[in-house]
Amino acid sequence: MIIVGTGCAGYTAGIYAARSNLRPLVLAGTQPGGQLSTTTEVENFPGFPEGIQGPELMMKMMSQAQKFGARFNYETVATIAQNADHTFTITTDSASHQAKVVIISTGASPRHLGLPNESQLIGHGLTSCATCDGAFYRDVPVCVIGGGDSACEEATFLTRFASTVYLIHRRDTLRASKIMADRALANAKIEPIWNTVPIEYLADEQGEMRGVNLRNVETNEERELEVKCVFVAIGHVPNTAPFKGKLDMDENGYLLQRNGTRTNVPGVFAAGDVADHVYRQAVTAAGQGCAAALDAEKYLTAREA
Ligand code: NAP
Repeated sequence: MIIVGTGCAGYTAGIYAARSNLRPLVLAGTQPGGQLSTTTEVENFPGFPEGIQGPELMMKMMSQAQKFGARFNYETVATIAQNADHTFTITTDSASHQAKVVIISTGASPRHLGLPNESQLIGHGLTSCATCDGAFYRDVPVCVIGGGDSACEEATFLTRFASTVYLIHRRDTLRASKIMADRALANAKIEPIWNTVPIEYLADEQGEMRGVNLRNVETNEERELEVKCVFVAIGHVPNTAPFKGKLDMDENGYLLQRNGTRTNVPGVFAAGDVADHVYRQAVTAAGQGCAAALDAEKYLTAREA
């Protein structure tokens, strides 16, 4: 068994498959630990009433899978091909592997706005990870784009460092859960800017972010806002590029599941955010990882009978 991806879904699939003596090979991908590895306090994962840091939770899941015999390789999948005998060849950036059964749990990555000089500014004042980059921006103004839980969480975290955190949202109400929205809006360092979208990132002579041009979507009024860093929190895109044309996906690229975690290809299963644009929680991804391991085990047993 090969498990592709190491977020909550991949690690949980690893725990279940390893406990079934399947000795799964888990391919860690470009972001071991997935999205929780770049977050701070996780308050809603059952079993941790005091909360737990995201990276710590992921390390615990990984060592739990290792304890039962899961193997981890730090490789990124490039392609998957089905062989004549219904096994699979998975080619990564550094190797090729054979598998009888594959669980895809590659998650989703932060979406960007698609503004012109975006790629040059990533890492120079444009980021999607407050926990990674927040501490570099002490006592300067920064902004967060978005109105969901991620935006509120990032904005609240950034108040530890920044002088002001502008929360720029395209509507006049937050999509975030009430508890997270209330916490953000009650913070004196967070200044919401409603009905507004960034239309241009502004760089200084050194190529570092110096501000954003904003447009009010109701009045069309434009203005410049001075910020040293822009934290983009406008949702995610599923990591399904290696599977295009091979596995059925919806119009946004999320893998389609049928009858549990099965994909359209027998022997390939999907779990977590790569197939879930509705719940997208750590605990639902973990639940799907468990389900995929059980479905895969059943498939293997039937195949070998
Ligand atoms: P999200 O809920 O999809 O919110 C994305 C936000 O970005 C929305 O406010 C959306 O605006 C805005 N947006 C999208 N495209 C945009 C664009 N092109 N320009 C400007 N704004 C744009 O994403 P998320 O906040 O990353 O949350 C994803 C999931 O993870 C959710 O289920 C959330 O509950 C969960 N999550 C939970 C926690 C927690 O409980 N600790 C923390 C983080 C995330 P509209 O509102 O107008 O659509």
